[in-house]
Amino acid sequence: MKFSDRILKVKPSPTLAVSAMSARLKAQGIDVLSFGSGEPDFDTPQNIKDAAIKAIASGKTKYTPSGGIPELKKAIADKFRRDNNLDYKLSEIIVNCGGKHSFYNLMQVLLNDGDEVIIPSPYWVSFPAMTELAGGIPVIIDTDAEADFKITPEQLKNSITPKTRAVVINSPSNPTGAAYSFNELKALSEVILEAGILAISDDIYESIVYGDFKFTSIANVSEEMRRNTMVLNGVSKSYSMTGWRIGYMAGDEDIIKMVDTLQGQSTSNPASISQYAAVEALSGDQSVVAEMVKAFDRRRKFVVEGLNSIPGFDCYNPEGSFYVFPKVEEVYKFPGWGKVEEKYNDEYKSSSLSAYLLEEAKCAVVPGIGFGNDNYFRISFATSDEILKEGLIRIRGAIEKLL
Ligand code: PLP
Repeated sequence: MKFSDRILKVKPSPTLAVSAMSARLKAQGIDVLSFGSGEPDFDTPQNIKDAAIKAIASGKTKYTPSGGIPELKKAIADKFRRDNNLDYKLSEIIVNCGGKHSFYNLMQVLLNDGDEVIIPSPYWVSFPAMTELAGGIPVIIDTDAEADFKITPEQLKNSITPKTRAVVINSPSNPTGAAYSFNELKALSEVILEAGILAISDDIYESIVYGDFKFTSIANVSEEMRRNTMVLNGVSKSYSMTGWRIGYMAGDEDIIKMVDTLQGQSTSNPASISQYAAVEALSGDQSVVAEMVKAFDRRRKFVVEGLNSIPGFDCYNPEGSFYVFPKVEEVYKFPGWGKVEEKYNDEYKSSSLSAYLLEEAKCAVVPGIGFGNDNYFRISFATSDEILKEGLIRIRGAIEKLL
């Protein structure tokens, strides 16, 4: 079969692959603990489910405007005002079929072949793939735990070329959990505005932050920056609604209009029932979010401490999200490592390590190379305290065998 050059360039999502693999092993009766999935383990709150049931019962089951129902756009505008101190007209907002779809659509309407998008690494696996699918070139800025996984204004400046269209800021980040402060974003915004490029702010983990950390979007830095930023968000992570597929974006009216045209000729509207559920999520009782974050915070402390006590592991303490990204470079120097590499024979060390942990510890983790750095792997702690506890014991056991 002949396939398009476009699709042949795209690698399958490693996070979805890990989730599928652990589901397969579980179905075979193998006791695999899965730390791959990027979704909260909590059920969708009852008030949100009730709103969906009500939508079905009252016949809200037909096509809607392709860019979303006005009620949801209003709920999104109210949410931006309430939580982010950002003012958007309804014409500056569009609803998409999940946060992933928001970024995909944005790349499709912004990029011509060869246009560049700056993406700090470690990055969410789909940012470079969706850039390439639109004919763009991802320009990666490497960061590591020593730099708190953040890019500096100098690094940003040095990566900008006449082909640069945008820079992606994902704070808190998937996979590191690192998040930028207001002042750090302000410093980046000066470079962005001077260069005349667009900021794309993926704020999907905004409500999952810990301790004293205060979330700010780069759109908050100034009115000029608000106008120069496309803010992407969704209900998947904050309200445990990953399967409902509702994302949204806000920003320049002309861009929003183009995304609406694209959506009208591709997916059409996001599911009508999910849209009514999202209205309730964004405007109903918000206490469920704080409850989930409390549980995530407890797990974060437990996991970071546990991972840091495993030989060869060095784990950054995340400001937000439900991921940790431990550095395991030292493990690659352990006496038993040679045998692991020989056995799994993968081009990437983090992939060999993940395969080893799956076989030896029956723990599914995602190799760091999928996020742009082979010296790390990702664990999602959006799973029960019991599974995390058991997982840490198993991972420690497998790593100690390599000493
Ligand atoms: N942005 C980031 C950084 C993510 O990690 C994810 C999900 O993993 C998304 C966007 C998209 O989420 P969804 O498409 O489920 O709304």
